[in-house]
Amino acid sequence: MSTENRDGKGRPAHRPDEDWNEGVEEMDDFTVRGEAARSGPSGIDELPEDITGSANTERPLLDPIEDAEGDEPTLRPRSLDEFIGQEALKENLRIFVEAAKRRGEPLDHMLLAGPPGLGKTSLCRILAGEMDVGISVTSGPSLERAGDMAAILTSLEEGDFLFIDEIHRLNRQIEEVLYPAMEDFAMDIVLGQGPSARTIRMDLPRFTLVGATTRTGLMTKPLLDRFGFNARLDYYAPEDLKKIVVRNARILKIPTTDGGAEQLSTRSRGTPRIANRLLRRVRDYAEVVGDGTIDEETAKAALAMQGVDYLGLDPIDRDYLRLIIQKFDGGPVGVGTISVALGEARDTVEDVYEPYLLQSGLIQRTSRGRIATNRAYDHIGVSTTE
Ligand code: ADP
Repeated sequence: MSTENRDGKGRPAHRPDEDWNEGVEEMDDFTVRGEAARSGPSGIDELPEDITGSANTERPLLDPIEDAEGDEPTLRPRSLDEFIGQEALKENLRIFVEAAKRRGEPLDHMLLAGPPGLGKTSLCRILAGEMDVGISVTSGPSLERAGDMAAILTSLEEGDFLFIDEIHRLNRQIEEVLYPAMEDFAMDIVLGQGPSARTIRMDLPRFTLVGATTRTGLMTKPLLDRFGFNARLDYYAPEDLKKIVVRNARILKIPTTDGGAEQLSTRSRGTPRIANRLLRRVRDYAEVVGDGTIDEETAKAALAMQGVDYLGLDPIDRDYLRLIIQKFDGGPVGVGTISVALGEARDTVEDVYEPYLLQSGLIQRTSRGRIATNRAYDHIGVSTTE
């Protein structure tokens, strides 16, 4: 549990109880008020739970940003210049940041969408560095109660970034605390219960909410509408991924030939995080089986051992395609059936496996389910006429 500040050293661990109690010690019976409360049939009776309940929780509300693997140096880019690819987005972000800086205002709330491992967390961190502000990091599923959100919001400082990963998985109550927080930098608190209850509005520091999501389609419209900047990250082109592999091999001091970097870049599913992982595994192989250098042959052999084929598909991707082709005659077949047959959570199938299979033209999504394309038949080595 940590809160990073501008020099990356981190403030003392975030303690929801301490932060929250500051300035409101006398209030032991209060509730954070959301839209649900206002629109409920009986008004105050419908209020969310007592915020003090969450103050005693042992659950960490804030997460550290995962960085290096073991003792290795971090591969996370530290500036927009080090952030490779996504040129159009970077250009927009440069202007967005520069304009906010000139006006002396915090950055507008920003939504970063795209499959996992494409650089959403990295971008958030880079932008906080550019703005010279701290970041608090949390995620949708780890926040359960309105009070959790309130505790985090009240601990922010002016201009800080609040990064919420998997923001599409926030529950409704928490979203409703976010609406006034995002729009008016305020939070409504209900003191007391029943007829004597009264509401006070508490001012919050002007902060920047950075939401990351793999599934914009699951977000509610009121939340989507409150972001001033929406960015979509796409899979990386092999040329960009190659630059990332070359840079990271240099940081990790792994001798790599052009052919070796090429193999890694074409087999990493357009995803920097996968490129980083494969780079480390191929290095293991090169050190144990080869002479320590990642060349084309070593990369091919090591990736084959990992079950990664020339399109970057791994065994589960191929099981997915075989399932549709061999068990369901090429589809259409529902994603629920596919997840059960593969023994994977439906969210994982939809967020992690399918986007790349779709983008590679191996499957199609129709209203009746998923269909394998001719390219999938070719890839799996089954004739379409069988
Ligand atoms: P996400 O938040 O979208 O899941 P991350 O920001 O955690 O992705 O990125 C995963 C890793 O991939 C980072 O640690 C970093 O090493 C690498 N990475 C992502 N995007 C880039 C990029 N554009 N240039 C260089 N490395 C990148």
